[in-house]
Amino acid sequence: MIYLSEVRSYAMDLKIVLLGPPGSGKGTQTERLCAELKFTKISTGDLLREAVKQGTPLGIKAKSYMESGGLVPDQLVGDLIKEKLTGQKGGVLLDGFPRTVEQAKMLDQIIKVDLAIDLEVDEELLVKRLTERRVCKSCNSVFHLEFNPPKLAGKCDKCGSDLIQRNDDSEKVVRERLRVYKEKTLPLTRYYYDKQILVRINGQGDISDVYERVLKALKSHKKKN
Ligand code: AMP
Repeated sequence: MIYLSEVRSYAMDLKIVLLGPPGSGKGTQTERLCAELKFTKISTGDLLREAVKQGTPLGIKAKSYMESGGLVPDQLVGDLIKEKLTGQKGGVLLDGFPRTVEQAKMLDQIIKVDLAIDLEVDEELLVKRLTERRVCKSCNSVFHLEFNPPKLAGKCDKCGSDLIQRNDDSEKVVRERLRVYKEKTLPLTRYYYDKQILVRINGQGDISDVYERVLKALKSHKKKN
Protein backbone atom coordinates (compact mmCIF):
# COMPACT_ATOMS: atom_id res chain seq x y z
CA MET A 1 0.00 0.00 0.00
CA ILE A 2 2.79 2.38 -0.88
CA TYR A 3 0.63 5.12 -2.34
CA LEU A 4 -2.20 5.28 0.19
CA SER A 5 -0.68 7.80 2.62
CA GLU A 6 0.49 9.97 -0.26
CA VAL A 7 -2.95 10.44 -1.75
CA ARG A 8 -5.10 10.34 1.39
CA SER A 9 -5.57 14.07 2.05
CA TYR A 10 -5.42 15.06 -1.58
CA ALA A 11 -8.06 12.58 -2.75
CA MET A 12 -10.61 13.85 -0.25
CA ASP A 13 -12.13 16.39 -2.61
CA LEU A 14 -11.81 14.64 -5.96
CA LYS A 15 -14.78 13.84 -8.15
CA ILE A 16 -13.96 10.64 -9.99
CA VAL A 17 -15.91 8.61 -12.51
CA LEU A 18 -15.13 4.94 -12.92
CA LEU A 19 -15.58 3.77 -16.48
CA GLY A 20 -15.01 0.30 -17.85
CA PRO A 21 -17.30 -2.49 -18.99
CA PRO A 22 -19.59 -4.48 -16.72
CA GLY A 23 -17.39 -6.85 -14.73
CA SER A 24 -14.26 -4.71 -14.99
CA GLY A 25 -14.18 -4.30 -11.21
CA LYS A 26 -15.67 -0.83 -10.80
CA GLY A 27 -17.78 -1.87 -7.81
CA THR A 28 -14.97 -3.78 -6.13
CA GLN A 29 -12.44 -0.97 -6.51
CA THR A 30 -15.03 1.60 -5.43
CA GLU A 31 -15.73 -0.31 -2.21
CA ARG A 32 -12.07 -0.35 -1.27
CA LEU A 33 -11.43 3.27 -2.21
CA CYS A 34 -14.40 4.36 -0.15
CA ALA A 35 -13.31 2.32 2.85
CA GLU A 36 -9.73 3.58 2.80
CA LEU A 37 -9.98 7.08 1.36
CA LYS A 38 -13.44 8.10 2.60
CA PHE A 39 -14.99 8.80 -0.76
CA THR A 40 -18.74 8.88 -1.04
CA LYS A 41 -19.81 6.14 -3.41
CA ILE A 42 -22.65 6.74 -5.81
CA SER A 43 -23.53 3.65 -7.82
CA THR A 44 -26.46 4.08 -10.18
CA GLY A 45 -26.70 0.29 -10.53
CA ASP A 46 -27.12 -0.13 -6.74
CA LEU A 47 -29.58 2.77 -6.55
CA LEU A 48 -31.65 1.40 -9.41
CA ARG A 49 -31.68 -2.14 -7.99
CA GLU A 50 -32.87 -0.72 -4.67
CA ALA A 51 -35.61 1.25 -6.47
CA VAL A 52 -36.72 -1.95 -8.25
CA LYS A 53 -36.72 -3.86 -4.94
CA GLN A 54 -38.80 -1.15 -3.26
CA GLY A 55 -41.18 -0.89 -6.24
CA THR A 56 -40.81 2.90 -6.45
CA PRO A 57 -42.07 4.71 -9.61
CA LEU A 58 -38.44 4.86 -10.82
CA GLY A 59 -37.94 1.16 -10.09
CA ILE A 60 -41.08 0.22 -12.00
CA LYS A 61 -39.89 2.16 -15.06
CA ALA A 62 -36.30 0.86 -14.83
CA LYS A 63 -36.98 -2.84 -14.25
CA SER A 64 -37.47 -4.10 -17.81
CA TYR A 65 -34.44 -2.23 -19.18
CA MET A 66 -32.25 -3.70 -16.47
CA GLU A 67 -33.53 -7.25 -16.90
CA SER A 68 -32.83 -7.24 -20.61
CA GLY A 69 -29.31 -5.82 -20.21
CA GLY A 70 -30.20 -2.45 -21.77
CA LEU A 71 -29.67 1.01 -20.34
CA VAL A 72 -32.28 2.88 -18.36
CA PRO A 73 -33.21 6.12 -20.22
CA ASP A 74 -30.78 9.02 -19.69
CA GLN A 75 -33.37 11.37 -18.24
CA LEU A 76 -34.40 8.97 -15.46
CA VAL A 77 -30.82 8.24 -14.40
CA GLY A 78 -29.87 11.91 -14.82
CA ASP A 79 -32.61 13.01 -12.40
CA LEU A 80 -31.51 10.37 -9.92
CA ILE A 81 -27.87 11.44 -10.01
CA LYS A 82 -28.78 15.11 -9.73
CA GLU A 83 -30.73 14.40 -6.57
CA LYS A 84 -27.82 12.40 -5.09
CA LEU A 85 -25.13 14.93 -5.96
CA THR A 86 -26.95 18.03 -4.83
CA GLY A 87 -25.27 19.35 -1.69
CA GLN A 88 -22.72 16.53 -1.74
CA LYS A 89 -19.41 17.57 -0.16
CA GLY A 90 -15.97 15.97 -0.30
CA GLY A 91 -14.63 13.26 -2.58
CA VAL A 92 -17.11 11.37 -4.73
CA LEU A 93 -16.73 8.17 -6.71
CA LEU A 94 -19.28 7.55 -9.41
CA ASP A 95 -19.62 3.87 -10.24
CA GLY A 96 -21.65 3.17 -13.37
CA PHE A 97 -22.48 6.78 -14.21
CA PRO A 98 -22.16 8.25 -16.77
CA ARG A 99 -22.79 5.50 -19.30
CA THR A 100 -23.56 7.63 -22.35
CA VAL A 101 -22.12 10.85 -23.72
CA GLU A 102 -25.50 12.46 -23.03
CA GLN A 103 -25.20 11.51 -19.34
CA ALA A 104 -21.63 12.87 -19.22
CA LYS A 105 -22.93 16.19 -20.50
CA MET A 106 -25.65 16.18 -17.83
CA LEU A 107 -23.00 15.48 -15.20
CA ASP A 108 -20.88 18.41 -16.39
CA GLN A 109 -23.83 20.66 -15.54
CA ILE A 110 -23.79 19.41 -11.95
CA ILE A 111 -20.12 18.92 -10.97
CA LYS A 112 -16.63 19.25 -12.39
CA VAL A 113 -15.19 15.78 -12.93
CA ASP A 114 -11.48 15.64 -11.99
CA LEU A 115 -10.60 12.21 -13.23
CA ALA A 116 -12.10 9.40 -15.33
CA ILE A 117 -10.61 5.99 -14.63
CA ASP A 118 -11.15 3.38 -17.31
CA LEU A 119 -10.62 -0.22 -16.23
CA GLU A 120 -9.66 -2.38 -19.20
CA VAL A 121 -10.36 -6.12 -19.16
CA ASP A 122 -10.40 -8.79 -21.86
CA GLU A 123 -13.96 -9.68 -22.96
CA GLU A 124 -13.94 -13.42 -22.17
CA LEU A 125 -12.59 -12.70 -18.71
CA LEU A 126 -15.45 -10.24 -18.20
CA VAL A 127 -17.96 -12.99 -19.03
CA LYS A 128 -16.32 -15.33 -16.52
CA ARG A 129 -16.17 -12.65 -13.85
CA LEU A 130 -19.84 -11.74 -14.25
CA THR A 131 -21.42 -15.17 -14.62
CA GLU A 132 -19.56 -16.45 -11.54
CA ARG A 133 -20.10 -13.28 -9.52
CA ARG A 134 -22.20 -13.42 -6.37
CA VAL A 135 -23.46 -10.42 -4.40
CA CYS A 136 -24.72 -9.99 -0.87
CA LYS A 137 -28.46 -9.41 -0.91
CA SER A 138 -28.22 -7.13 2.13
CA CYS A 139 -25.04 -5.05 1.89
CA ASN A 140 -24.21 -5.47 -1.85
CA SER A 141 -20.66 -6.74 -1.17
CA VAL A 142 -19.26 -8.50 -4.21
CA PHE A 143 -17.64 -11.96 -4.34
CA HIS A 144 -16.51 -14.36 -7.06
CA LEU A 145 -16.76 -18.13 -6.88
CA GLU A 146 -13.17 -18.56 -8.01
CA PHE A 147 -11.27 -15.27 -7.73
CA ASN A 148 -12.69 -13.90 -4.46
CA PRO A 149 -14.71 -16.64 -2.76
CA PRO A 150 -16.53 -15.98 0.52
CA LYS A 151 -15.05 -17.67 3.60
CA LEU A 152 -18.29 -19.61 4.08
CA ALA A 153 -19.96 -20.77 0.84
CA GLY A 154 -23.08 -18.77 0.01
CA LYS A 155 -22.68 -16.30 2.91
CA CYS A 156 -21.40 -12.73 2.99
CA ASP A 157 -18.09 -12.28 4.86
CA LYS A 158 -19.17 -8.84 6.06
CA CYS A 159 -22.73 -9.27 7.29
CA GLY A 160 -23.45 -13.01 7.04
CA SER A 161 -26.47 -12.60 4.72
CA ASP A 162 -27.10 -14.87 1.73
CA LEU A 163 -25.18 -14.36 -1.48
CA ILE A 164 -27.21 -14.34 -4.68
CA GLN A 165 -26.58 -14.18 -8.42
CA ARG A 166 -27.89 -10.98 -9.98
CA ASN A 167 -30.61 -11.60 -12.58
CA ASP A 168 -28.56 -9.75 -15.17
CA ASP A 169 -25.47 -11.91 -14.60
CA SER A 170 -26.76 -14.82 -16.71
CA GLU A 171 -24.57 -15.38 -19.77
CA LYS A 172 -27.23 -14.25 -22.27
CA VAL A 173 -27.83 -10.94 -20.49
CA VAL A 174 -24.11 -10.45 -19.84
CA ARG A 175 -23.40 -10.68 -23.60
CA GLU A 176 -26.09 -8.09 -24.26
CA ARG A 177 -24.71 -5.77 -21.56
CA LEU A 178 -21.27 -6.00 -23.17
CA ARG A 179 -22.75 -5.24 -26.60
CA VAL A 180 -24.58 -2.20 -25.18
CA TYR A 181 -21.37 -1.12 -23.42
CA LYS A 182 -19.43 -1.09 -26.70
CA GLU A 183 -22.14 0.80 -28.52
CA LYS A 184 -23.12 3.39 -25.91
CA THR A 185 -20.45 3.64 -23.21
CA LEU A 186 -17.14 3.08 -24.99
CA PRO A 187 -17.44 6.46 -26.82
CA LEU A 188 -17.22 8.08 -23.39
CA THR A 189 -13.52 7.27 -23.15
CA ARG A 190 -13.02 9.59 -26.11
CA TYR A 191 -15.10 12.27 -24.37
CA TYR A 192 -12.86 12.24 -21.29
CA TYR A 193 -9.68 11.74 -23.32
CA ASP A 194 -10.45 14.99 -25.13
CA LYS A 195 -10.84 16.71 -21.75
CA GLN A 196 -7.42 15.26 -20.78
CA ILE A 197 -8.69 13.61 -17.63
CA LEU A 198 -8.83 9.99 -18.82
CA VAL A 199 -6.57 7.39 -17.20
CA ARG A 200 -6.55 3.86 -18.60
CA ILE A 201 -5.76 1.10 -16.13
CA ASN A 202 -5.20 -2.58 -16.68
CA GLY A 203 -8.09 -4.13 -14.73
CA GLN A 204 -6.78 -7.69 -14.96
CA GLY A 205 -5.03 -9.60 -12.20
CA ASP A 206 -5.42 -9.51 -8.43
CA ILE A 207 -7.89 -7.06 -6.90
CA SER A 208 -5.01 -5.66 -4.81
CA ASP A 209 -2.78 -5.19 -7.84
CA VAL A 210 -5.51 -3.29 -9.66
CA TYR A 211 -6.06 -1.21 -6.54
CA GLU A 212 -2.37 -0.29 -6.44
CA ARG A 213 -2.63 0.84 -10.07
CA VAL A 214 -5.64 3.01 -9.20
CA LEU A 215 -3.77 4.62 -6.30
CA LYS A 216 -0.80 5.18 -8.57
CA ALA A 217 -3.10 6.96 -11.03
CA LEU A 218 -4.38 9.19 -8.21
CA LYS A 219 -0.80 9.97 -7.25
CA SER A 220 0.17 10.91 -10.82
CA HIS A 221 -2.90 13.11 -11.06
CA LYS A 222 -1.79 14.89 -7.88
CA LYS A 223 1.65 15.58 -9.37
CA LYS A 224 0.19 17.06 -12.54
CA ASN A 225 -2.21 19.42 -10.72
P1 AMP B 1 -24.42 -1.98 -12.90
O1 AMP B 1 -24.65 -2.51 -11.55
O2 AMP B 1 -23.64 -0.70 -12.91
O3 AMP B 1 -23.83 -3.01 -13.84
O4 AMP B 1 -25.85 -1.60 -13.51
C1 AMP B 1 -26.87 -2.57 -13.67
C2 AMP B 1 -27.90 -2.08 -14.67
O5 AMP B 1 -28.51 -0.87 -14.19
C3 AMP B 1 -27.34 -1.74 -16.05
O6 AMP B 1 -27.22 -2.88 -16.87
C4 AMP B 1 -28.41 -0.76 -16.55
O7 AMP B 1 -29.59 -1.42 -16.95
C5 AMP B 1 -28.77 0.02 -15.29
N1 AMP B 1 -27.90 1.20 -15.13
C6 AMP B 1 -26.96 1.42 -14.17
N2 AMP B 1 -26.37 2.61 -14.34
C7 AMP B 1 -26.93 3.16 -15.44
C8 AMP B 1 -26.72 4.37 -16.16
N3 AMP B 1 -25.81 5.27 -15.77
N4 AMP B 1 -27.49 4.60 -17.24
C9 AMP B 1 -28.43 3.73 -17.66
N5 AMP B 1 -28.65 2.55 -17.05
C10 AMP B 1 -27.92 2.26 -15.95
